[in-house]
Amino acid sequence: MDDPIDQVVQLILEAGKVVVFTGAGVSTESGIPDFRSPGGIWSRYDPEDFTIQRFVADKEARKRNWQVRRELVSANYQPNPAHYAIVELEKLGKLSCVITQNIDGLHHTAGNSEENIIELHGTIKFSKCLECDDRLPLVDVLKRIEEGEEDPHCRKCGGLLKAATVSFGEAMPQDKMYQAERHSRECDLFIVIGSSLVVYPAASMPLIAKRAGAKLVIINYTPTEMDSRADVVVHAKAGEVMGAILEKVKQKRPSAG
Ligand code: NAD
Repeated sequence: MDDPIDQVVQLILEAGKVVVFTGAGVSTESGIPDFRSPGGIWSRYDPEDFTIQRFVADKEARKRNWQVRRELVSANYQPNPAHYAIVELEKLGKLSCVITQNIDGLHHTAGNSEENIIELHGTIKFSKCLECDDRLPLVDVLKRIEEGEEDPHCRKCGGLLKAATVSFGEAMPQDKMYQAERHSRECDLFIVIGSSLVVYPAASMPLIAKRAGAKLVIINYTPTEMDSRADVVVHAKAGEVMGAILEKVKQKRPSAG
């Protein structure tokens, strides 16, 4: 079997527990730029503004940070065929979980169940208080900013409010890291979709899965440093290939009963 798409189809048919690991590349076909491609987010903003240290220390950096959040939320981005293909995997009973580095919430919007989504880098759907950890919908904070509050603080304890994302320099959520590592160790197929695999510790998940004996598939537009470790590599657009892969899986799957 030479066609890599057919090889991925076969691996999914044979697998009992599939972990899907997504990065910014799964959402570019929804219109959200990734970090490292030309025209990506860091060509328009200073990454230094997104460190937790700068956020806490500098009111002007916080204002720019809220501006980016407002841009992301008001654009009302929608899932694309790659997100929906992952929902299909769940419906087929194959998906162990989707581990995502994305903060855009599109796996939820597409229809994957809450308990099957592990957001390693948080979400822009909520904000959190850096003092008391109180969470509230991000749109509520954006509304306060629109109504004139320049630098919103927690109404319960006075602490700084921030989008519930993991900024550079901020600790990873230990419970989610633990869950993601466990699923990676226990799966028999691990599929990377749209990640450059350079942001650690998230990028250690495919290595954990591979070391524990899982097959590794990488679907990414450009080559990654882990391509040589993968069983199948597909350099293509995620939305285009994932839709085709799931169609074939559904056709070839033995019917129930
Ligand atoms: P990255 O920008 O480092 O890499 C994205 C990869 O996706 C690139 O290698 C690119 O070639 C590939 N890609 C782009 N479009 C694709 C497509 N249509 N199909 C297949 N591959 C495609 O992103 P990363 O690995 O996720 O790591 C960067 C960090 O960026 C993560 O921590 C994530 O939190 C954050 N981020 C998230 C979003 C989002 O939530 N949508 C957007 C930008 C950045």
